[in-house]
Amino acid sequence: MIIYNPEKDLFTRIENFNKYDHSFILLYRIPLSLCVHIGSKCNFKCIYCLSSSGVNGIWAPRSLLLNVTKLLKKLGGRRRIVISGGEPSHYPHLEEGLHVLKRNGHVIVVATNGSKFMPYAIRYIDWIDISLHGVDNVSYQKTIGVSYHFDRLMDIIRSYDSLGIKVACNLVLTENNISCLNEGLIKAVEAGARKIRITNVLKIGRGQNVRSPDIDNICFSDLKNDLLDRGAEVVWFPKFDSKLHLKMEFGYFYVSQDGYLNAERRGPQITAVDDAIIFMEQRKEEHEKIFLRTQFSR
Ligand code: SF4
Repeated sequence: MIIYNPEKDLFTRIENFNKYDHSFILLYRIPLSLCVHIGSKCNFKCIYCLSSSGVNGIWAPRSLLLNVTKLLKKLGGRRRIVISGGEPSHYPHLEEGLHVLKRNGHVIVVATNGSKFMPYAIRYIDWIDISLHGVDNVSYQKTIGVSYHFDRLMDIIRSYDSLGIKVACNLVLTENNISCLNEGLIKAVEAGARKIRITNVLKIGRGQNVRSPDIDNICFSDLKNDLLDRGAEVVWFPKFDSKLHLKMEFGYFYVSQDGYLNAERRGPQITAVDDAIIFMEQRKEEHEKIFLRTQFSR
């Protein structure tokens, strides 16, 4: 098994990946978007954590973002870099790493749980992607497993909005939050969230395969219009169709330690080039981005 360690072999691994394993990556000029995983340390312990993060997690080495910058120089162009974790806002080298990436002209997105305000965001971050783990105090704390108030999160969104930083909120729909979904999303948009996305409703990655009768009581098109009227710029809800082909509808790419492409960390492995191309096209069309997630080992 290949242990992928960006400290040692970030360049080689991705170059080999491009050259031998999946040449279509070059053909499609991927990654358009690079998802950089800064470790598995997080102050929350969500029931569905995709990256198995938590308080006992570890941080990626300080050199990670520097190495990513070097890699991007080799690839050329201006990319969209998504910093995720773990919880990046607590990563001790985040500000320094963002400084280097931004100096090189990349579009920076930080995927965060929103619990810690980043005062330097105005200098380096183009978008803040906040995982909305609930839509009120009860649903929020049930999911995140620690005491942190939903209202505090709304205050932090307001602070970013007042600085002119765009905030997106991604919600994982669960049985904990579905009954107060409308109200919660409206609060987020009124606080300043510009993009609302319900990430998963089927059993893939963090998806919970929600089968609640409450789902039938939500009129998603009305909710979408309401959110747009209140100032949201983009609202994306998945189609609620259990027959959807998961590989084509959800998730982002994850390169597993043995070098295979997966749709999300725990998503299905993609083995056929045709499947991957369809998947990429769908992602490009839907979000104008394709993720390639980095992974590191201890
Ligand atoms: S906030 Fe994100 S990284 Fe942290 S435990 Fe929850 S899902 Fe995992």
